[in-house]
Amino acid sequence: MTYSSEFGSYQQLAAFVTDVRLEPAGGGSGEDGSRSFAQSALSLPIHEPVLMEDCKDCDKCLRVCLTGAIGSDRFLLHSAKCLTALNEFPGEWPEWVDPKSHNALVGCMKCQAVCPRNKGLLQVQKLDEEFTVEETETLLAGESSAEPSKWQALEKKLEEVGLPGYEEFAGKNLRALIDAWKL
Ligand code: SF4
Ligand code: SF4
Repeated sequence: MTYSSEFGSYQQLAAFVTDVRLEPAGGGSGEDGSRSFAQSALSLPIHEPVLMEDCKDCDKCLRVCLTGAIGSDRFLLHSAKCLTALNEFPGEWPEWVDPKSHNALVGCMKCQAVCPRNKGLLQVQKLDEEFTVEETETLLAGESSAEPSKWQALEKKLEEVGLPGYEEFAGKNLRALIDAWKL
């Protein structure tokens, strides 16, 4: 996780991959002196990860994590064990995932919600859009069982609420969530 003073850990990291031939840091600029985004990105200083002062006497995130993704054995998160990573892909859940650990349709915020450095920063937004029973059943049944027009409507609706492409795994996550509620 990465923290900033303004947003705490509520940030989305992104990576850009390119086969453009790049000048090394400090290299040339355009004729007008401008630098491309890639040139600017290459010039950014690289920092080693630094542990926050607050973490030295705190293990709240470690204790709340239901899958052991945050360990005391190393600084970095074990991302392969993180529910957020696991529920953004289609396919079966690994056997070692405790069925009771599912707690969100997408992602898992347990460790971030408990962190003192994030206090007061989380804003929960209620959406106007709602999913009907029929749409929910379509999502749970999966694309192979759905009428193409209904599946396309579902794709569009998920896109409208900022979750494009999530139809591929949202049904899997919702099934796991419903099962967890029953336990
Ligand atoms: S809960 Fe926050 S402050 Fe505490 S150890 Fe985890 S990241 Fe650090
Ligand atoms: S998001 Fe959930 S599963 Fe991932 S490290 Fe945090 S508490 Fe653990």
